[in-house]
Amino acid sequence: MINFLDLKKINNQYQQELKDACSRVIDSGWYIMGKELENFENEFSNYCGTKYTLGVANGLDALTLVLRAWKELGKLKSGDEVIVQANTYIASVLAITENNLVPVLVEPDADTYNLSIENIKAAITNKTKVILPVHLYGQISPMPEIMALAKQHKLLVLEDCAQSHGAMINGKKCGSWGDAAGFSFYPGKNLGALGDAGAITTNNDQLADTIKALRNYGSHKKYENLYQGVNSRLDEIQAAMLNVKLKYLDAETLIRQKIALTYLENINNPLIKLPLSADEYKNNQQNHVWHLFVIATKHRDLLQKYLIEQGIQILIHYPTPPHRQSAYRKFNKISLPITEAIHEKVLSIPLFPTLENKDIKKIIRVINEFNI
Ligand SMILES: *Cc1c(COP(=O)(O)O)cnc(C)c1O
Repeated sequence: MINFLDLKKINNQYQQELKDACSRVIDSGWYIMGKELENFENEFSNYCGTKYTLGVANGLDALTLVLRAWKELGKLKSGDEVIVQANTYIASVLAITENNLVPVLVEPDADTYNLSIENIKAAITNKTKVILPVHLYGQISPMPEIMALAKQHKLLVLEDCAQSHGAMINGKKCGSWGDAAGFSFYPGKNLGALGDAGAITTNNDQLADTIKALRNYGSHKKYENLYQGVNSRLDEIQAAMLNVKLKYLDAETLIRQKIALTYLENINNPLIKLPLSADEYKNNQQNHVWHLFVIATKHRDLLQKYLIEQGIQILIHYPTPPHRQSAYRKFNKISLPITEAIHEKVLSIPLFPTLENKDIKKIIRVINEFNI
């Protein structure tokens, strides 16, 4: 069986360093809001090219707290609209509704699965206040165009970078384009902790200050509470794990990109649509960090069954779009044909830094032999 993702094998590469870092935290006697977090926040800011990183408990909180902070700062109020692609993971939408803001679910570009400028333009109303591009599957959205449009309409931009650590356009990394960004370090993400963790990046002093308080009970100063905040802190052990793993992120990304290129150059089954052509990708390798390698086919359910029979574990990202979930009954009747078609056709094949060459070869051969 080829696993979809082998976290044990990935983390085993750094086993000694992770254990040493863990011991260091245990021995320090200081477990929350200490040196490990401070180091990680500095290192991750350097990595992304931003003034601030603020560690929080998870990726959903990162997105939620940015919107919440903008409300506290008077930049947003309940009922304001946030434009987001309809095919995202539900967390992006939960962050919006949790703040009593209105998600405007727009159809993605059918080829990139990301927001398109045309669809954003068509969705802007006088209530629109935020664009929330999700760099889905690891591919950065068209940020230069999105930022220009946001400037023109005086909109805020919140990047969802949960799947795209290190993806860049013109050498500028995701997380440094928008007014703020949310990252997840869930164990299976490209930069994964050994538990839950997340972070916000921004260059804005006021926003950073507000989030520092919000994540810690709304308190700027011990026992003085400016806001009705939350408890969403990135603890020292997870920060220490991330300090180890951040050093290897670029090397792991290069391996992901190499495997992706091998797939793009060698999977050639006419029944299957690849995420990009190999030539397109070669011109622009840095804009995709391949959190997921997502293929599409009309015969998805047959392909899924076939791959499992052949010993290849696959996943579907995602089987049901947010607007079709019971959690969002009020959106159930909205018709989003491109989004709905995507959810019926996509299938993610194994792609992770310790995937072995023989497995990559087998995956390519098996997919190329698929027929109906
Ligand atoms: C994983 C993910 C999140 C949420 O991150 P958690 O750390 O699991 O809360 C948000 N948005 C997207 C697109 C994700 O993939």
